[in-house]
Formats: sequence, C-alpha cells, structure tokens
Amino acid sequence: MSQQPGTSGLIFNEPNLWDKSRKGRCAISLPTQDVERTRLDESLTGDAPELPQLSELDIARHYTRLSQWNFGVDSGMYPLGSCTMKYNPKTNEVQAARQGFAGAHPLAGDEFSQGALKLMYNLERYLAEITGFDAVSLQPAAGAHGELTGMLIIHAFHAKNGKQRSKIIIPDTAHGTNPASASLCGYESINIKSGENGILEPEAVAAVMDEDTAGIMVTNPNTLGLFESNIKKIADIVHEKGGLVYGDGANMNAIMGVVKPGKIGIDVLHLNLHKTFSTPHGGGGPGSGPVAVVEALEPFLPIPKVVKELDTYKFVTDCPDTIGRLHTFYGHFGVLIKAYSYILSMGAKGLCDVSKLAVLNANYVKERLKGTLNLPYDMPCMHECVFNDEFQKKNHITTMDMAKRLLDYGFHPPTVYFPLVVDAAFMVEPTETESKEYIDQFIDAVKAIAKEAQDDPEKLKKAPLLTKVTRLDEVTAARKPCLRG
Ligand SMILES: *Cc1c(COP(=O)(O)O)cnc(C)c1O
Repeated sequence: MSQQPGTSGLIFNEPNLWDKSRKGRCAISLPTQDVERTRLDESLTGDAPELPQLSELDIARHYTRLSQWNFGVDSGMYPLGSCTMKYNPKTNEVQAARQGFAGAHPLAGDEFSQGALKLMYNLERYLAEITGFDAVSLQPAAGAHGELTGMLIIHAFHAKNGKQRSKIIIPDTAHGTNPASASLCGYESINIKSGENGILEPEAVAAVMDEDTAGIMVTNPNTLGLFESNIKKIADIVHEKGGLVYGDGANMNAIMGVVKPGKIGIDVLHLNLHKTFSTPHGGGGPGSGPVAVVEALEPFLPIPKVVKELDTYKFVTDCPDTIGRLHTFYGHFGVLIKAYSYILSMGAKGLCDVSKLAVLNANYVKERLKGTLNLPYDMPCMHECVFNDEFQKKNHITTMDMAKRLLDYGFHPPTVYFPLVVDAAFMVEPTETESKEYIDQFIDAVKAIAKEAQDDPEKLKKAPLLTKVTRLDEVTAARKPCLRG
C-alpha cells in the first residue's frame, strides 16, 4: 500500500433538491384513486408547500452523492487525538438493532423490560470489574455529563460530611471539559502546571491542597497522552486533607485490562462508552458517560438505580442521599447495548489487547515521526502522541497548513491546537484498529508534507487543493454561520 488513499478523481457536484426540481417529476406511483377528487379547504391548509419535484433517480443520486462527501472511519484513517475514532465492529450495531431492544419503550415498566434491565445490571458489573470500582451508574449521557455527575457526587459527599468546600484543583493537562464541569457545580478551579516531563508532580498538588479544596480532577492518561505515574502519591495528598480524586477516564482504551483506576487512589471516574466501547461518535452522535465510584460514594449515585432481587431486575428511586435524576428516562440505551456486546465479544483478553495495541500504535507513530515533526515531550506515550510545528516555522508553515494538506492525501487531520500546554499542537491518535500498513501510509503522508514545507511552502499554504471546497474562511464561518446552505 505505497500509494496514498487520497485522490483527485471523481468528486460529483450536487445542487440542492430545489435546484434539481422540474415541474411534473414524481418519484412515487400511488394506486389509482377510486374516490372523487376534492380540494381541501384552503383557509385551513394555507398555501401548498413548495416541495421539489424529482424522479426516483434524482433522489437516489442526490443522497448517494452527499454520502460520498462524508468521511468516516469506515472510509479511512481518522487519527483525531483525544477522540478515539476507531473502527467499531458491526456486530455491535446488529445487536443494538435487535427487535426486542429497538422496540423497548421507557414507559413499558420494569415487568416488561426485564431483558433491558438485566443488560444494564450486567453492564454495570462489567464496567465495575474493568475499572476496579465498587459501583457504576449508566445514567450520564456523555463524557462531560459524567464529569458533572462526578462533581455533583463529590459536592454531595462534602455536604453530607457537614462542610462544603469551594475549590477544585485542575492541572493544565486536564481535558477542557473538566473546569467547565467543576464550575457548573459552583467550584472555583485552581489550575496547576504539570512538571517538565508533562506529568503532575506531587509537590505541585501539595502546595495548593487545603481543607477548602473539594478535590482534584485528573485526566489519566492526560491530554499529552502520558500516564500520570504519580497518581497514587497525589491521591494520598488529597485524601489526607479530606478531598476526593476525580479521574477522567474518557480514554480508557489506553489502560483497559492493564490498570484499574479504582485501585490507584481515584474515587470517582467517568468512561466514554462512545470512545472505548464501540459507539461511533463522529458528528456528535449519541454517547454515554457512565460513572464509577468507590463504596463510600455509592449512596450518592444518580437515580434510577438498577437492582436485582432474586431473579428479577427493577429500577429503584428511593435513595435518600442520591444526587437525583440527570434526565428523563435512562440515557442512550442503544450505546449501552453496543458496549455490552463489545465487552462480551472481546472478552477479558481481547480488551487488554486493545489497550496494548493502542499504545503500541501511538508509540510507533511517535518514534517514526519524531525527526519530521517536533516532539515537545519525548517520553513513552499511551494511546496518542503530541507534536507541533516548531521545525516548519522557519518556512512559515503552521500546524494548520499541514493538517489541511493531509486532506489532499486522503486522511482526516489529527486534533490541532489542543492540548493548550503545547504551542500549535498536532495530536495524533492512531487507535488500536489501524494496521501497520494504514499507519505507514499516514506517516509517509506526513513526511511528504514536511518535505513540501521546505520545497514548496506557498502551495502548502493554499491546501487543501483536491477537496470539494478548498481552504475555508473559518473565522467568518464561526462568526457569521450561513445556516441556509
Ligand atoms: C472526549 C473527552 C471528554 C468529553 O466527552 P464528551 O462525551 O464529548 O462530553 C472528556 N475528557 C476527555 C479526556 C475526553 O477525551
């Protein structure tokens, strides 16, 4: 596979349906009418809507062409750091679409939902086992929603213990949603810097931890793709002053089956089922951010909770210390089915292999690209690695120029300008599902672009050149979005 997947070949133009409309065209044939035609009372219906008039082929081509403009992991590599855009086995979609699940209704009642409840109960047990915690709630509907849930639990814990606290420690390598979740809970974020190696130093935590601090939020692996190896010491410092440790476990695919966050001092953790556990999430699709807690925090978990009595499952809401409901009904159940199916089909060894391959692939990218792009933290990484444009600056080429050019080579660009600790970051997460051949193609493309940065920087500044639309004015697009097409 020496050739790049990008091509300048057939890319169809496609106007909107109204432009294609021709009077009298119709894509449907209705049976001959056997009743007399009458006009509806126009004072009730108003003017007839101006719908496009199209043949069946017009419509088939229209949507097929639009679908071909889409890019997804099923079409090519999508190394968007921090997002885990990996391939999700189709069997998990098939299980989620099974009639018994797809037809389940949230108002059917426990008695008629035993299969769904059993699945939720078992999934909670599996996730507790994988993370090393005592209890899990499947209620949060996304990662940041899980963070908010975790923060509300920490808040409720301190309230129950008689003294509310006002601050929370957040390192510079935490995910951007962390401070937002903390401040939604009324906490003031105390930002601390990570050490020279890109990981947190216990001394930095000790310097700010006090009895008015509710705890710390640690993203592990952190947003530099590095494992916070001082986590146990940091947890001891926080616990000693009565605080709690929040773990952002969105990127569990780096440590699953290898590290149990519940055993290294973390008290409450969220997972992103739509990253690690087989729900595709391009375009912000439905997610699920379960929260796992140590025994002492179990009473505060949100309601409803699924319990098992003899062989019957039911929801309970009568929990005096709960933080309450997070939403109507039970979250994105389809995502839970896919996670359950994924865990069962992978098995314990399979899940462990996922993490090992994710880490191996990222380290392979890091090692092979580190002479081509600048690598600010040259350490063994977890599931992703972070470069920047330091080497290309002399030719006035930026991370953005290189990311745009990757589109011409047929790759979705990596995450850029995040994490903020690295200036002009270029953050690559190959994921465990890419083979060596695909990763090599990506590496070759980046190397070719770095060469272009030297040989033809002017061309690179205009990239992408082969896509349907070339470089967009992103500032105007964000400030004055044109929502009408
Ligand atoms: C993706 C991610 C989140 C946020 O998850 P959402 O489902 O997008 O809300 C939080 N933390 C980390 C580390 C992440 O990678």
